[in-house]
Amino acid sequence: MKTSNLITGLHHVTAMASSPQENVDFYVGLLGLRLVKKTVNFDAPDVYHLYYGDESGNPGSIMTFFPFQNMKPGRHGKGQAATTTFSIPIGSVEYWLKRFDQFKVKHKSPQKRFDEVVIYFEDSDGLGLELIANDKDPRAPFTYGHIPLEHAIRGFYSVEIWENTYERTEALLVNQLEHEFIAEEGPRRRYKAKNGLPGQVIDIVWGADNPYGVNGSGTVHHVAFDTPSDEDQLKVREAVQSAGFNPTPVIDRQYFHSIYFREPGGVLFEVATTPPGFSYDEDMEHLGTDLKLPPWQEHRRAYIEGLLAPIVINPEKYASAH
Ligand code: ZN
Repeated sequence: MKTSNLITGLHHVTAMASSPQENVDFYVGLLGLRLVKKTVNFDAPDVYHLYYGDESGNPGSIMTFFPFQNMKPGRHGKGQAATTTFSIPIGSVEYWLKRFDQFKVKHKSPQKRFDEVVIYFEDSDGLGLELIANDKDPRAPFTYGHIPLEHAIRGFYSVEIWENTYERTEALLVNQLEHEFIAEEGPRRRYKAKNGLPGQVIDIVWGADNPYGVNGSGTVHHVAFDTPSDEDQLKVREAVQSAGFNPTPVIDRQYFHSIYFREPGGVLFEVATTPPGFSYDEDMEHLGTDLKLPPWQEHRRAYIEGLLAPIVINPEKYASAH
């Protein structure tokens, strides 16, 4: 049997937002994720880059945002990772439905998918998200303090990419990115990396009738897969390039090293290294506390700070009534 060593699941998902404060309120306040890094878009330092995740920001738990204050809303559709799915314990469905009702989060009623219960919901910019209740997630729970630990989000379960058709994307996932096809339900085809645990799953949802996505706030910019080391990343890069794709050179993202390439259906894929991680420039206890800049921007700190609206973490705003 083929084992996956170079790609070990999802690393992070990066999406576009509008208001940074509303973004923090939603992901920290409402969902109980930890703000593990507050930095800027390395290519446009007047915009935050906010990273949310579990306690230490492990790969497979990291949702990141570029909140452009006045960005126009986009639309979910083909050529995008349309929905990001988080893992919750099997007994937590009622808790989350009540929480969504209490805080007026737009959501659908629970549905069945491969024998598990899924709740679709949207963040304050309309980004498509889901919770999947399951009993196979071995990851330790983390909560920011206002959500009972027993109901806490464990990290990603999967990411859903929307495609016109699946064949060429499947070939890339299977042949170059060490995934295995495991299940099918209607227009959904599921692939696993490594052991297929939550955080190691990607779904292709395909169909000619779906609209194409439009970039803007509330849409995903790219999906990153996790690779254990720089050496492994170069092997993946070589494989992807040999298959006719056009990966970027390795780019230093401070907390990981990255390559990017577009898959056949148009979704931007990234392969990011596990090391060095978010404790690279902040100790574990203080992750997300200070505005962190890459060394080459440090001399402009006063100027950059002047461009960014301050954001505050206020989980009390989302204290549960039950
Ligand atoms: Zn990324």
